[in-house]
This record gives sequence, C-alpha cells and structure tokens, in this order.
Amino acid sequence: MNTDRKALWAVRQSALPAVVRSCPDCPSTRHRASGKIRVNANGKLLDVWLLLSCAACDRTSKVPVHERVHVSALEPARLVAYEINDPSAVRELVMSASLAAKNRYRLDWTGTWELETRMPLYALDDPSPLSVRVGFELPVPVRVERLLQLGLGLSRAEVRRLVADGRIRLPFAPDAKAHRDFELTIHGPGSVDAAKHAKALDGSAAERSDLARIGLPPAPGRELPRRATARG
Ligand SMILES: [Zn+2]
Repeated sequence: MNTDRKALWAVRQSALPAVVRSCPDCPSTRHRASGKIRVNANGKLLDVWLLLSCAACDRTSKVPVHERVHVSALEPARLVAYEINDPSAVRELVMSASLAAKNRYRLDWTGTWELETRMPLYALDDPSPLSVRVGFELPVPVRVERLLQLGLGLSRAEVRRLVADGRIRLPFAPDAKAHRDFELTIHGPGSVDAAKHAKALDGSAAERSDLARIGLPPAPGRELPRRATARG
C-alpha cells in the first residue's frame, strides 16, 4: 500500500487562554496574563508569582508559581526569564494545566487557536491513502471532529459519515478532545472496506460529492495555506 502521500495540519496559537477565577473587586471572572512575573528574594529563598489582570476592572492579582524555593533549585536561565518577564515564560505559565490545577482555576481556550492546513491539491478519488499529521503549537483541547470539519471544509455530519465508513481513520473517537500531536489517515474510495460499504449504501452518490469536495483547490480569494479561525 502506498502511504507516501502526507499532509501537515498545524494548530497555531492566536491568543493566550483566559484564566477563569473570581475577582475580589468586580463580578468578572476573566483574567489575562499581564505579561509580568514577580520575583521576590529573601536571602537564598525566592517567591515567584505570575501576575494577572482582571479583564473588566484591571485589578492585578498574583498566582504563586514558587513559594520560598531555594535559589539553587531554579535553573539560572529560568530565573533570568522570570526576572525579565520573558514572554515565552509568561506564555508557559499561563497555559500550564498543573499551575491551574494547583491554584484551582480554569483556563478558557476559546479563540486561542486557528488551524493551518497544508493540503496537497489531490483528487480524493486517488486510491492511495493520505496520512495527515496534526501538530499542536499549544496544548489547547480541541474536538477531533472540529479539526476535521475545519481541515476538510465538511459539515459535522459529513465528517461522521466518513469516519463511520472507515474513510477517515482516527486514533480517537471523533468527539474526543485532542491536545497534542496525532496522525490520521484518509483513505480513497478504492479501499476494500469502503467499497463494500458504498455498495451497501443507498447514499453512495451523495458520498461521492463529499469526496470530490475534499482536496479541491481553494475557492477564489482564498490562499494556501488556509487558516480557519476557531470559534469554539
Ligand atoms: Zn475585576
């Protein structure tokens, strides 16, 4: 079986997640990273906080990252990153699931990502399978069928039918959430199972029209690589 055909999809970061926790000064629960990290030294002991701003009233609040940790316990490069408010250190802290769990707040990932696809322009009637590597730039939990809808430009029902027919093969259930790299394969109509299934189905004409849509050149005005903005 020829498995040389490969495509790459990337879940790209477009914003940082919001921190959801109550504000002591107003009814809002949304906080954003202020871009600052505070380090206090007391002799050889350090306290490190991530500073957040309330999205409504701008009140600053502190999330403890390290409490009374010995200076030798932190990598020097990391300590410098904290001291200079290094944006990648801020990003890492605000996206950290363990920091969120430790401090009992939730992360809202809405609007934090978009899908970039680099699909070869191929006819889906090609019987050889196409393997698609999905790479995550950030650990955002995304429903797999949502990625497929965006990546292939299909409705949820169309995606579910292709999965049920074995044309799309996934390492998870389509309604599961992925948050790290995985691979899926899209099989052509020549695959044995799909051919068997198509004969058994009345709706094979409808199925063919779906398949023709996958891999069509982008509509006029759209450019490759395509970017689909996350709505949820
Ligand atoms: Zn507030």
